[in-house]
Amino acid sequence: MMDCALNISSILRRAARVYPEQQIVSRLNDGSIHRYTYTDFCGRVIRLMNALRQLGVEPGDRIGTFAWNSYHHLELYYAVPAVGAILHTINIRQFSDIRAATINHAQDKLIFVDRSLANSLAEISDSIPCVQLFVAMDDLGPAPESTPQPFVQYEELLSTAPETTCFADDDERSAACLCYTSGTTGEPKGVLYSHRSVYLHAMGSCMADSFGLSERSVILPVVPMFHVNAWGLPYAALLTGARLVLPGSHTVGRPLADLMATEKVTFSAGVPTVWTLLIQHLRQHHHDLSSLNTVIVGGSALPVSLIKDYKRDYDVDLIQVWGMTETSPIGTVSRVKTGLASLDADQQLQIRGTQGLPVPGVEIRICDDDGFELPWDGETSGDLQVRGPWVASSYYGETADQSAFTNDGWFKTGDVATVSHLGYMQITDRQKDLIKSRGEWISSVALENAVVAHPDVLEAAVVSRLDDLRGEAPVVFIVLRDPGTPVKPGDVLDLLRQSFERWQIPRPSDVHTIEALPKTGVGKIDKKVLRRQLRSK
Ligand code: AMP
Repeated sequence: MMDCALNISSILRRAARVYPEQQIVSRLNDGSIHRYTYTDFCGRVIRLMNALRQLGVEPGDRIGTFAWNSYHHLELYYAVPAVGAILHTINIRQFSDIRAATINHAQDKLIFVDRSLANSLAEISDSIPCVQLFVAMDDLGPAPESTPQPFVQYEELLSTAPETTCFADDDERSAACLCYTSGTTGEPKGVLYSHRSVYLHAMGSCMADSFGLSERSVILPVVPMFHVNAWGLPYAALLTGARLVLPGSHTVGRPLADLMATEKVTFSAGVPTVWTLLIQHLRQHHHDLSSLNTVIVGGSALPVSLIKDYKRDYDVDLIQVWGMTETSPIGTVSRVKTGLASLDADQQLQIRGTQGLPVPGVEIRICDDDGFELPWDGETSGDLQVRGPWVASSYYGETADQSAFTNDGWFKTGDVATVSHLGYMQITDRQKDLIKSRGEWISSVALENAVVAHPDVLEAAVVSRLDDLRGEAPVVFIVLRDPGTPVKPGDVLDLLRQSFERWQIPRPSDVHTIEALPKTGVGKIDKKVLRRQLRSK
């Protein structure tokens, strides 16, 4: 067989030739709609490639983006890897110190930023000396109070760039994208995706029993393009020739529902919180969502009640997926097999409430503490491990901790799961000390460190509880230094407010004083016991 490279430019070339008239629609910050065809898109990607070269970008350079889901961002998704450079999508919701740490770790040479977000980079520009130039993409949002320097305009670069085509991504194993994930101590960990892994991931996720995408799909990724490449949808959409609708910063309530209705969106994807908020809006306002049929939900556990409500009230299938930054991210998809179609509706719902079946290309196993494989009986739970052509084999950087990768070539996910004899995986717990709230990570360790800084707190432990809106919410347990000197929840929260964002702060009712923290045989805090206590309340 021919050894043809599975690369990102081949997705672009085919999309432009085979579906020249297909549309890419973006909602800009002021609410206006930008619309162009795959042909227009491809022309601008080629000019952007040349503009990057004129700016001195070379193969292997890291190019940062700091942007919402829009056509500018999409152009970078294709142009940066096509010149052999590496697209680093920076999470706009991270704290400024973590943001700076990721940019420095990646050593981004340029950063492309939505003009309305430029302020957030101006704040840290002194601490990211690696960045030689910032490029502003006009998203028609409010003008920033300050801009990082030096600062140039995207459209000016494009207007003077030549239209000659020269792709430089022949080596499918070279790096195309770089995404960061949270470490337990808040330190980000980088994962490099190759052209080959991006291509294969897109193929795997398009399949009928995965996302089920086709040229007839109208895809609206609510999941941000700064979150694991919007779950690969910017590549999967063009691979299938689908219409892509990019919502910009308008990802909740009326603007989202309006865009779905007017563009006749058939397929969407996002974390559970998005769909909880949308259904609250839909219960009070009418929108015609009759085109919408599939919504992929992942990042946190999807409540069965939400699946039921969307099906009953809007005839929309919410399909649960599980994945991670390290798995590009799609690992499993929960669909009911035909053999189970005779089960009653509630039993089918329970199956859809699991994290699902491994997608073709991804293998899963569960292991005990000594690394021995456990049975797929739906009851025995163990460490979930995965492998496959779009699963990371190491973290980026020479000093990165590689202990999550086993000697026999698997990745330890840090999730604890059961697998049924039919292959359905269900997450039952998490080993990593992290809490996922609204799709973003909160480090339990960082919260604990902040809480024990209180002079009257002896020890603290933070675990998560399930929360209807946020997915998970942090719960703080404290042990007092002196039982006669109590600590009010409000005091703990005041302390946390000094260094955490509002959405990361626990509720006052989630701060509990206890006599002693449960400990394991080796003296570590036994969080399993705390979580169990919370669930039984
Ligand atoms: P990230 O790398 O930020 O995408 O986070 C990956 C982690 O999110 C996984 O290891 C899980 O802990 C969690 N996660 C992702 N999808 C699901 C899901 N469907 N149900 C429960 N947890 C999930």
